[in-house]
Amino acid sequence: MSDFLLQLSYLFGSITFIVGLKQLSSPDSARKGNLVAAAGMLIAIIGTILFHQHDGTPIGNIPWILAAMTIGTIVGWMMAMKVKMTAMPQMVSFFNGMGGACAAIISIVEFHSHPDGAPGYILVVFLGLVIGAVSFSGSVVAYGKLDEKIKDFSAQWLTYFNLLLLLLIFVVVGIAVVQPALLGGSVLWILLLLSVLYGVLFVMPIGGADMPVVISLLNSFTGIAAAFGGFLYSNPVMLTGGILVGSAGTILTVLMCKAMNRSLLNVIIGSFGGSSASSKQISGDQVVKEISVTDTAILCAYANKVTIVPGYGLAVAQAQHICHDLEKKLEEKGVEVTFAIHPVAGRMPGHMNVLLAEADVPYPKMVEMEDANPQMNATDVVIVVGANDVVNPAAENDPGSPIYGMPVLKVWEAKNVIVMKRSMRAGYAGIENELFFHPKTKMLFGDAKEMLGKLVAEMKEL
Ligand code: NDP
Repeated sequence: MSDFLLQLSYLFGSITFIVGLKQLSSPDSARKGNLVAAAGMLIAIIGTILFHQHDGTPIGNIPWILAAMTIGTIVGWMMAMKVKMTAMPQMVSFFNGMGGACAAIISIVEFHSHPDGAPGYILVVFLGLVIGAVSFSGSVVAYGKLDEKIKDFSAQWLTYFNLLLLLLIFVVVGIAVVQPALLGGSVLWILLLLSVLYGVLFVMPIGGADMPVVISLLNSFTGIAAAFGGFLYSNPVMLTGGILVGSAGTILTVLMCKAMNRSLLNVIIGSFGGSSASSKQISGDQVVKEISVTDTAILCAYANKVTIVPGYGLAVAQAQHICHDLEKKLEEKGVEVTFAIHPVAGRMPGHMNVLLAEADVPYPKMVEMEDANPQMNATDVVIVVGANDVVNPAAENDPGSPIYGMPVLKVWEAKNVIVMKRSMRAGYAGIENELFFHPKTKMLFGDAKEMLGKLVAEMKEL
């Protein structure tokens, strides 16, 4: 009976993961999807504690398990409550790293419990360890980079060193599986060390604009490592959860690669991006034209079509609500308004969609880059709100630029471009942007929320 109830709780958990994931795909149901999946996980955990038996013995150490769960819940809850919206990507990266660490720890424990396991079993133990450890250290470095605590470090030798390290990991895993006596128990710690080092060194050189690819790749690593853990424990809910995260992360990685026009091989070797490429310097005699709020309001109010391009600055300023107000005000005046969304705008995949959905911007108004670009030349005014790298023409015309080849929003094809940001500072990739000097561009300097507020107020006067 207890086994039946255990399997039932796992089945229930697996179904909620799938339903939750489906609900996460739309902003309207995403919150509910998260809760549904979390509830399923809770039931699976309770089911395990109550009904799981090993050789007829129920689970022990219950007070320790409950204490660990309580501490984890309190810490996680406090972090999630305290985190600023702009620091969300870092936190997601950190939590992802913790998932990788858990998977690696499962492998360590399993190896000690069954050191003489069959070769296939030992292979899964080591793969879980390697992928989990890479995901852990890589995610911690990604966290540091997103939080601007760790700077990019790139060098040609590092690319070869990383390849060598990866090869060494494969060789050690091979030896440990085929000739376990050769390296003995120390193999576990050798692999752990090599994998943690590889995780650090593979994320270190990935520079500026290329981070989204690596973040989604690390996400899929954690899922795969967790699936290995589920396989080791013959635990269907862990297996399902791991496979879902692993495959969702892999799909996202492919989409991000496509968005950045990069190959996955480059990401794994960790050779692209960084500061090694030398971008074209913008000559000092180019001038920047500024525009006032009043003139911007007039320009927009008499336009037929306005496109708003949000970027990371929208998240920093928390300007999504006032941005929606501007959209409504313009529509009252008969202007057609759309939002052009670049897949890597902001600091996490889907960042802009989430922010705009939070402000109740209707989903059909958010136009993906592929659909937005062909409409640019029919657009009267583009308002770039805190975006920089995703509208940088260097991606198209400067082969020396680190973002060369990445598809961008071709805002310069519109009749007028207003760029709203606080200064001439660079974006995440740390490179200059020729768009600011383009003949069609006018800069509206200031905090996005403040400037959009003034723009809406001005619009009411017209
Ligand atoms: P960028 O980081 O290129 O630029 C953001 C701009 O916003 C800055 O230049 C800044 O200029 C401006 N800004 C900041 N705060 C404010 C504010 N309060 N009001 C107005 N403007 C502000 O952002 P993009 O969205 O264009 O591009 C995203 C970049 O991040 C890409 O390089 C992408 O690859 C990278 N990335 C994306 C991830 C993802 O998953 N989406 C993950 C990791 C990295 P100023 O300081 O002058 O105001």
